[in-house]
Amino acid sequence: MNTILEETNFLMRKYHLKASKSLGQNFLIDENVINAIVNCSDISKEDFIIEIGPGLGTLTKYLLEKAGKVTAIELDGKMINLLKDRFSLYSHFELWQEDVLKVNFKDLIKKEKEKGSIKNVKIIANLPYYITTPIMMKLLEEELDIKSITVMIQKEVANRLIAIPGQKESGAITYSVYYYATSEDILEVPKEAFLPKPEVTSKVIKLNIRKQPPVDISNKETLFNIIKCAFMQRRKTLLNALVNAKVFKNKEEGIKILQSLHMDIQVRPEKLTLEDYATIARFLLVE
Ligand code: SAM
Repeated sequence: MNTILEETNFLMRKYHLKASKSLGQNFLIDENVINAIVNCSDISKEDFIIEIGPGLGTLTKYLLEKAGKVTAIELDGKMINLLKDRFSLYSHFELWQEDVLKVNFKDLIKKEKEKGSIKNVKIIANLPYYITTPIMMKLLEEELDIKSITVMIQKEVANRLIAIPGQKESGAITYSVYYYATSEDILEVPKEAFLPKPEVTSKVIKLNIRKQPPVDISNKETLFNIIKCAFMQRRKTLLNALVNAKVFKNKEEGIKILQSLHMDIQVRPEKLTLEDYATIARFLLVE
């Protein structure tokens, strides 16, 4: 018998809830998946967990058993009363009704750390898939004082995020993730693990935030701008993409630069490593 499914149905009936498609509400009903998320996150009482999108609180319940503190951020007002009722007895639970994209994570983490009992901050979520990329980029680019990010996301997106730069699944975002974190492929999750079933297969991945970036670059904005421009025209060669995006003034200059860096002028954007892009960025920065 699936008790999580029963609990989910019970809560939805009791609070007159219908899963909202536009808010990406697909609730987890598979305990094995929940255990995989919790176990790979290696949670202790010294951990502060930020959960994005707690929904009915299915995963939250497990996080509260292990963590020193859990702050959950949920946009949907309909979930808020339920979550307040469900976890009112937990003094180490806090609930924020807010759009995750507007949350000041730096402040939230600083305040929690100042209290003194927290060692590590970990972000955990079964993400709303419609805003996966902006959420992931916000969490990485803000360079938060966090140890890891464990998320369930759409499988294809997951594969792109955790690819090694230079592999065929690489996209611009692959390089960003690799710059900030090392990644782990935890578990593929079938549609049946959710209520309602999503249209896509999912994956749990874990990003371990690096203490130091893997490349040395004085201006990372230049590096990421070059990568973004290279992938805007993925089917073109790197040379043509960077000429069209005006990173190189013209084709002659582009050929000269790539040749002086010992790079193939026919190379495609996804074949380069992060270090290759950093080499181009360093060259342009001293020009
Ligand atoms: N954690 C629950 C689970 O695993 O069953 C629910 C996960 S569901 C895929 C995504 C959750 O994110 C929903 O509860 C949804 O309301 C919430 N959500 C959607 N957009 C959000 C936003 N911009 N900020 C915060 N939460 C959001």
